[in-house]
Amino acid sequence: MDKGKPLIVVAAALIDGDGRVLVQQRPQGKAMAGLWEFPGGKVEEDELPEAALIRELREELGIDVEKACLAPACFASESLGERHMILLVYICRKWRGIPQALEAPAIRWVRPLDLHGLDMPPADKPLIGLLDALI
Ligand code: C5P
Repeated sequence: MDKGKPLIVVAAALIDGDGRVLVQQRPQGKAMAGLWEFPGGKVEEDELPEAALIRELREELGIDVEKACLAPACFASESLGERHMILLVYICRKWRGIPQALEAPAIRWVRPLDLHGLDMPPADKPLIGLLDALI
């Protein structure tokens, strides 16, 4: 089956001063509703991944991140329904503002070890092991 061009999605692992990571819950009515994901979303046509992530973090959490504060960490590929998806993940320890759940029903700060107990989209899961090792 021709699945066309893969969907490019970006996500951030925001790490606070206590070594906790921010996750947000996917809203009802969206694919994988109720699962906990790293904040982010689709990269638009003609948009660079870092710019997409900065935009998504502003829209979803109301925080401002500079490009220089985003460290590329890993990518995970996962087939998403009829379409392949590539998730580009960035580590971020510095931002302006206090993250708020502007679009998600809830956000949570969790220790990396507690990520193992959360239901997450398949593409987000490879990052858990990386954060275990990193934090
Ligand atoms: O949030 P939005 O629906 O725009 O995300 C686009 C797609 O990327 C969704 O289908 C979602 O499943 C996927 N995604 C993901 N992990 C994330 C963010 C988005 O798998 N952290």
